[in-house]
Amino acid sequence: PPVGQQGRVRIVMESALTARDRVGVQDFVLLEKYNSEAALIENLRRRFGENLIYTYIGSVLVSVNPYKELEMYSKQQMERYRGVSFYEISPHIYALSDNTYRAMRTERKDQCIMISGESGAGKTEASKKILLYYTVTCPINEHMATLGDRLLQSNPVLEAFGNAKTFRNDNSSRFGKYMDVQFDFRGAPVGGHILNYLLEKSRVVHQNHGERNFHIFYQLLDGGDDDLLTTLALERNPQSYNYLVKGNCPRLSSVSDKNNWKVVMKALSVIGFTEEEVQKLLDIIASVLHLGNTQFGEGEEGETYITTETQITHLAKLLGVDVSALRDALTHKKLTAKGEEMISPLNFEQAMSARDALAKAVYGRTFTWLVEKINQSLALKEIYHSGKGCTVIGLLDIYGFEVLQHNSFEQFCINYCNEKLQQLFIELTLRSEQEEYETEGIAWETVQYIDNKIICDLIEEKHKGIISILDEECLRPGETCDVSFLEKLEDTLGGHPHFVTHKLANGKTRRVMSREEFRLLHYAGEVNYNVNGFLDKNNDLLNRNLKEVMCQSDNQILCHCFRREEVIHQKRPEMAATQFKNSLMKLMEILMSKEPSYVRCIKPNDAKQPGRFDEVLVRHQVKYLGLMENLRVRRAGFAYRRCFEAFLQRYKPLCPETWPNWHGRLADGVSTLVNHLGYKAEEYKLGRSKIFIRFPKTLFSTEDALQAK
Ligand code: ADP
Ligand code: MG
Repeated sequence: PPVGQQGRVRIVMESALTARDRVGVQDFVLLEKYNSEAALIENLRRRFGENLIYTYIGSVLVSVNPYKELEMYSKQQMERYRGVSFYEISPHIYALSDNTYRAMRTERKDQCIMISGESGAGKTEASKKILLYYTVTCPINEHMATLGDRLLQSNPVLEAFGNAKTFRNDNSSRFGKYMDVQFDFRGAPVGGHILNYLLEKSRVVHQNHGERNFHIFYQLLDGGDDDLLTTLALERNPQSYNYLVKGNCPRLSSVSDKNNWKVVMKALSVIGFTEEEVQKLLDIIASVLHLGNTQFGEGEEGETYITTETQITHLAKLLGVDVSALRDALTHKKLTAKGEEMISPLNFEQAMSARDALAKAVYGRTFTWLVEKINQSLALKEIYHSGKGCTVIGLLDIYGFEVLQHNSFEQFCINYCNEKLQQLFIELTLRSEQEEYETEGIAWETVQYIDNKIICDLIEEKHKGIISILDEECLRPGETCDVSFLEKLEDTLGGHPHFVTHKLANGKTRRVMSREEFRLLHYAGEVNYNVNGFLDKNNDLLNRNLKEVMCQSDNQILCHCFRREEVIHQKRPEMAATQFKNSLMKLMEILMSKEPSYVRCIKPNDAKQPGRFDEVLVRHQVKYLGLMENLRVRRAGFAYRRCFEAFLQRYKPLCPETWPNWHGRLADGVSTLVNHLGYKAEEYKLGRSKIFIRFPKTLFSTEDALQAK
């Protein structure tokens, strides 16, 4: 540890302030019963009770959502953590941010911080705190003085369009996000780039009870001035819009839509959206609301027509398309059969679903455009174009493992993603352990761990994985349906140890399964997926004639989103699951190429309340996050490791006979000290620069002794 300002040795453990029993240990590897989940949870609980929401597992940061503002994120706090090593000060998201930054600077190696946890656990807040830390503490490059602002302002914009109130979180991100922050050779942020994953488009047209649509709709209605709403032909009351009433939850106590509207409009201008672009963007948002209010009637011969004439006029104007073309496209379908084009009328149901499909496509593609636009604003200036001399810190804020009452295609994708991340985590943790042992010249000992490759293969393998089978079923001509997909799965995967269905289970499972479900045995536990809607969601089809209308739009955003080529070539875009799989593969490559750090977020209760620690809930998450596994890998070899110098500084007060008058090689000093502490030769090893201790048990009493001093 560094010498304090007055030249005194700083006593370093936070637990020096309070009894260890009360606050627990700041690093789980120091737990005596490291194999016990109960001990781990108890340690979390104690610390949570003292507002110590952060704890380490080695270099992994575990964070428990406090659901209240804690006074630990100030600028002064940032200063405290600058340049200070991990173990010398209480665990904090700033410590992790700073350590990552310094590793990038000193090793000149790209880094990434992977934040995981279930919805509402605090991932997005954590990523925002990391970004804030960098924009406040890093030097500024004069050519890119405004970049910090733009990086920070990208958040309110993406949250307005990509976040919504859900049952679990009032500000839930409904998309996955990976953001690169690029730094120049002096360590100043000079660029950024965002990748977005799988926006939950279905929310545009439907919300569960108590949930809302994306924030931007309510912000516009609440915050937009009268003139604006008149131009958009909108009423102020969200209850007037079908797409906003499904969840029966127009307002939120925890957020002010009006204030946030101002924040978002300001952010858009900081990022560099022109007034015209903002206006076109709002036209699109308004058009989605009008689409939702577009109603259909049924004629005598079963044909469908639009009954809301004024609505469709507004709609066409806002979308920048021809009104009669739009009317036809919403009620008819264009088919090509044997080289001939045919127009066939849609029935009522089909028209409704064509309408919803258009709303989802318009919103989803606009969101993608928004991300591209933000990326342009964050793009490296020309001087850095080659990226030469630049290093990167990536931030991954992506949905955690999800098990709902009713799990569908979305949960399947989300959990697949977590399966991949877990695989990466294990691989990288083992790799870095191994590398450290090698650099330190210590023999590597094999570690036992659960390899989840088999489950990843089950989902993603070419030809026989679930995604391939799903695609095949979507493309197969003739009658296909969700149930035929399930049958196909049974035929191909029956007998796979991680795949079960009602038929295959043969009464052998504990939980009753319905005939529409398949069960996957994920690393984190069993999940039943209902196949209803899988084919539609994977197909994600928009009728061709609707596409044709849209690509003639004179709204510059929409004509960017709906390209003529898509209609001309009639090339079928990749299916949703395959698209997701491919983007995940790319993500894995990006993450693999970087030095990883981890933040594991935990939600303490389901009521979004401060001070409540629900043990059952936490236990689930400890399991899903693989924390015990993590701890085991970390403890399998040498649980404790520290640089010679730091170790000596820390523990030499325990050996006053030798210190402070000792002068010699660091390694010799460390040997003297560990022997004095009573460790036998087989219990520790000296590497080139670090001491490794297998079970640092006696260090507990050591810590206590130090505190007593
Ligand atoms: P996630 O992204 O994991 O779904 P969020 O980061 O949106 O979760 O957090 C949900 C809510 O929890 C936030 O809106 C905030 O109210 C609260 N919260 C999360 N982390 C913190 C924190 N470190 N301090 C205070 N409140 C927090
Ligand atoms: Mg989030």
